[in-house]
Amino acid sequence: MDISVVIPLFNEEESLPELFAWIEKVMAENNFSYEIIAINDGSRDNSWEVIRKESERNPLIKGISFQRNYGKSPALNVAFEAAKGNVIITMDADLQDSPDEIPGLYKMIVEDGYDLVSGWKQKRYDPVFSKNIPSKFFNGVTRRVSGLQLNDFNCGLKAYKRKVVKSIEVYGEMHRYIPVIAKWAGFEKIGEKSVKHQERKYGVTKFGWERFVNGFLDLMSIVFITKFARRPMHLFGLLGSLSFFVGFIILMWLSISKLFFSTLGIADRPIFYFGILAIIIGAQMFLTGFLGELISRSAPERNDYKIGEKIGL
Ligand code: UDP
Ligand code: MG
Repeated sequence: MDISVVIPLFNEEESLPELFAWIEKVMAENNFSYEIIAINDGSRDNSWEVIRKESERNPLIKGISFQRNYGKSPALNVAFEAAKGNVIITMDADLQDSPDEIPGLYKMIVEDGYDLVSGWKQKRYDPVFSKNIPSKFFNGVTRRVSGLQLNDFNCGLKAYKRKVVKSIEVYGEMHRYIPVIAKWAGFEKIGEKSVKHQERKYGVTKFGWERFVNGFLDLMSIVFITKFARRPMHLFGLLGSLSFFVGFIILMWLSISKLFFSTLGIADRPIFYFGILAIIIGAQMFLTGFLGELISRSAPERNDYKIGEKIGL
């Protein structure tokens, strides 16, 4: 099989028939053998009924349905395990990504030998303030942290070599950083292709303001896990020494000024408490977060999603 098209979706009933028909048209024109895997991520509308009907019409459309909404990353993870194609192409269900890009992406993987090709919404049709500007910032930070020169890490439209999706794991909301995860899994040939983007035709965006916070925290987790999970002392030792040093200087300064210049008691100076408290709380939260991440990574049930039903798989 040439291509598995993977589509995570949450309440996208209006878009699905149009999207499937468009993909089928592109596949037929290019003579690709394919499957479409639609993951219903706990939709509350009729998305699953639509998928069921469509799969009766075309058995190459397969479906997995979560019993509740787990998020885009778990949906991708489950579909990656099920996918059988040599090339896996992911796209959003909302018709913002164009199936016309499939042949070009496929060619870059098969002929140019890329492990992963990420779409780049060079001209983007999303709200400027809530999406485009924050996304520039996120992409900049991710570029610096990962050393990967991509313009658009979180584009829903991406193509992968089969072995890439079989060796990476996407959980939480890590789908924003799949190219980074792939790079750290040893896949170095990561490319980018400028793709067409459209305005959302039906429905509304499924990611609210929390995505800024979650996105930032996930980026931190990725950095810790990949860089420091096996040598935590290099990070915590450094931070610990730094904060010890800062605390030492503050207390030293307070002591000297108490001894020689001032009559004010050390404990009467607000900065004393502030410094100590901030350092202790900060260090504790940081460590707690890191330990939590380590524990959650080794929990055997971390990829245990309750699947209600499957079609064709
Ligand atoms: N999605 C999902 N589970 C979720 C949230 C989103 O499967 O919990 C799907 C959604 O249906 C769409 C894709 O992920 O197919 C991208 O979501 P959306 O278009 O809302 O994101 P945006 O384009 O606004 O960043
Ligand atoms: Mg969208």
